[in-house]
Amino acid sequence: MHKGEGLGYSLYVLDKLLEQVRGSDVKLHVLYDIACILEKHIKGKADATRNVDDVSLAVPIFHIYGHKSSCHVRYSTRWLPGFGLTDGEEMERMWAFMRRFSFTTKEMTPSHRIDLLTDGLLHYRRRKVSDIDLTLARNFEKARSISESTKVDLEAAQRILHVTVSDIDEWITAEKEHFHVTNEADEPMTKEEKYVLLLQSIDSITQSLCECEDADARNGFSQQLNRLKAEAKRHERDIGINRRWQKMDQIFKVHQMSLERKKKEKILMQLHKQAMDYRFIQNLQKKYSDGQAIANRLVKNLLRASKNMKRSISDFNKSNFTNRSGNLPDQLSWSDICDPMAELFKKVGCGSQVTMNDHIPTTERQHLMDARNRMLRAEEELQITECEMLSVLNALSEEYDLLVAATGSNPVMQKGLLLALKKKACNTRIQFSEAHNLFSKYISTSAVPHHLKHHMPIREVTEQEMDVVELDDPDEDSDEES
Ligand SMILES: [Zn+2]
Repeated sequence: MHKGEGLGYSLYVLDKLLEQVRGSDVKLHVLYDIACILEKHIKGKADATRNVDDVSLAVPIFHIYGHKSSCHVRYSTRWLPGFGLTDGEEMERMWAFMRRFSFTTKEMTPSHRIDLLTDGLLHYRRRKVSDIDLTLARNFEKARSISESTKVDLEAAQRILHVTVSDIDEWITAEKEHFHVTNEADEPMTKEEKYVLLLQSIDSITQSLCECEDADARNGFSQQLNRLKAEAKRHERDIGINRRWQKMDQIFKVHQMSLERKKKEKILMQLHKQAMDYRFIQNLQKKYSDGQAIANRLVKNLLRASKNMKRSISDFNKSNFTNRSGNLPDQLSWSDICDPMAELFKKVGCGSQVTMNDHIPTTERQHLMDARNRMLRAEEELQITECEMLSVLNALSEEYDLLVAATGSNPVMQKGLLLALKKKACNTRIQFSEAHNLFSKYISTSAVPHHLKHHMPIREVTEQEMDVVELDDPDEDSDEES
């Protein structure tokens, strides 16, 4: 790496991954700390060679807390199908392991440091490989217990709140859609409204010009004024106005009112989005006790969200034009808009997606959506782990067959090499049967070749050879693989 963590690196890796799966039916699930930015970048740059529709991008679980709430719904592994219960923080675990080397390596020469770190990483890798059966078993148990506990939660909800699973699924879809809508099309302004807006600008600049004493600034204002006046003339020709509208004219007032309504509606729509954001973060924050790093980050996000809302409220209240015909309030306060389900939002067409099951409190709704998502992910995890267990057994069995074939193929093989191969075959067989025993508790292993369980290495090891084998520390891993 030459310049920090640029998008170029991740794009390069993504392209390599896509190249590997091209033509197959493998669907890539990629986790990246700023997947949201990456996706935006890719979609913004139409590149025919990179088809990202086959890639599902997500943000790792501890990194997502620094993102906007729209990212939570669009990029959290808990909300996206196919990710199981993965948290995407595997790399961080490796760094946590490597961290302990910093004390020893900080005073080393660079070459020694590289040597030691390489050894450390090799050890880490070897441990990952040898413990894979335990890791998978743990994953399976965790997924099973989550799936069972969320099932209990959801069943209770169905009994007490009379909510069905399909209701919850609909909420989830609505929530996703809500955050997918990036910019609702504003109601376009009419020609008359544009004209009114122009007259208002002319008015305010004229006033500034009167109050201003600085010559340069006056010059700037009058130039601006001339430009606006010319534009107003064009508008008048266009609409067919003979006499410039005055502030007191009835027609001016009518269009001013509708302009004001549109402005207020726009702010309200924005406020609805902000209120959804606020509620989302607030619910997340409840899950984490104070003082945790995540809680601190969420508090910061919450403050930012409330600041945005307050700014919108003051924008809304700024205009003191009374809107008698409309049903929007003249002034807003925090309590009017802090609930995204407030009646007020329905007047501007927001919040209609949550009209079903209105009797259910927001927090409960959020809890149920989380539970449902967790259950779906746990079920995926069970399937994924089952596949992984089977592929581990198959890989070990293949490895064993290869080793056995190698010991028999060459009659003039060196004794040391032969023994090393045999020892490796022996270890693989042990690892296979241990994994097989463990996995049989969770899944059906009937599809896996069973011959290994009864199979011994082809040639019996002679006593003399056994002596050599026993010289090795039996706990020490053999090194052929590295
Ligand atoms: Zn993001």
